[in-house]
Amino acid sequence: MASSDPGPRRALRDGAPSSPATFIDSHAHLASDAFAADADAVLARLREAGGLGAVCIGESIAAAERARALASGHRDLWWTAGVHPHDAAAYDPPRDGAAIRDALAQGAVAVGECGLDYHYDHSPRAQQRRAFADQLRIAGEHRRPVVVHTREAEDDTAAMIREAGAAGIVGILHCYTGSHDLAETGLAAGWYVSFSGIITFKKWDDLALLRLVPDDRLLVESDSPYLAPVPNRSKRNEPAWCAYTLHRLAEVRGIDAGTLGRITVRNTRRVFALPTGGADVAAE
Ligand SMILES: [Zn+2]
Ligand SMILES: [Zn+2]
Repeated sequence: MASSDPGPRRALRDGAPSSPATFIDSHAHLASDAFAADADAVLARLREAGGLGAVCIGESIAAAERARALASGHRDLWWTAGVHPHDAAAYDPPRDGAAIRDALAQGAVAVGECGLDYHYDHSPRAQQRRAFADQLRIAGEHRRPVVVHTREAEDDTAAMIREAGAAGIVGILHCYTGSHDLAETGLAAGWYVSFSGIITFKKWDDLALLRLVPDDRLLVESDSPYLAPVPNRSKRNEPAWCAYTLHRLAEVRGIDAGTLGRITVRNTRRVFALPTGGADVAAE
């Protein structure tokens, strides 16, 4: 971010009476190469913007290992392990399932991201379903939540969520942009819905979706390095900029960003069963 960039605090000050807001970035690919050169500066800006931490997503076994290494040096970073639907064709249940179970035993807070992506169809759909089902099963066995990516696969996602919910598996519909029906299916199963910077884009017009999710199921995420919110669209995204997404969500829901931020922090801690440290609680 250039020094002339006003940054999220400025945006909050300009638009929200109760700034600064706190938040936890519930989904960031911080172990990606995009952050290899300046992860420390990115984390410093996250904290400065009111961020109490970030969940580093392991979207592959290799990414999960990098996320583990990154998170091990920071008490406000947590990590997950799974295989993205794009790579489902290469998912090998004995090998990858064992790696995910290992990761959970080492402290990964969730399985994923995994799910179904019929927009890109990078892997055959049957293999996507198979890999997703296996990862849901692992999440259930280990009583950990599952981070779910779903795009243009509504019927199959809904069916698998219903089944998972009936088995007591809790998940997060991450970077959610789908239908109200699928969101309601997730909510009925006890799941959470996470919104990204997409909701700040000019073309985003489904404000009703942003109001549909009840307070106690709402999360915010960056999905960085992708999907930077307005006013930083098309730049490399970073967790600090969740503040813009939180601010927009608060505006649409008619609540101040500070209050909504505290609500999403509680939700993020609850769904991932994150430890609550003394400093974090004080910062809330
Ligand atoms: Zn995703
Ligand atoms: Zn992701």
